Amino acid sequence: MECIFCKIVKGQQEADIVFENDQMIAFKDINPRALVHLLIVSKKHIKSINELEKQDKDLIAQMIFSAKELAVKQNVAKSGYRLTFCVGRGGGQTVDHLHLHLIGGSEK
Ligand code: AMP
Ligand code: ZN
Repeated sequence: MECIFCKIVKGQQEADIVFENDQMIAFKDINPRALVHLLIVSKKHIKSINELEKQDKDLIAQMIFSAKELAVKQNVAKSGYRLTFCVGRGGGQTVDHLHLHLIGGSEK
């Protein structure tokens, strides 16, 4: 079966998209843990931080920078938020496609 986040990137699976550019897409987590819970997802299928290569450094920087801008748009910049990359099963990763969690506002 094809990767669920690749399907969202290709528009083959519905998602509540809040931002998109040539390198990444951001959408609302289907099972939010707080008032604001977004996933910033690379368009390129990379399994996790473990599989990052030197040429992906700019992509990671852009994902973090987009998270910073999205935090402002989602009104959690001042109150605060968490940015999390889960890596592998032991790190809590369940979807094997690189993504950054942006979690802020009151927890659910
Ligand atoms: P992780 O545990 O870091 O791999 O995070 C995967 C996240 O993806 C979880 O928080 C899920 O709730 C979320 N998720 C899984 N499928 C979808 C989907 N189709 N649309 C939006 N979020 C999803
Ligand atoms: Zn994928």
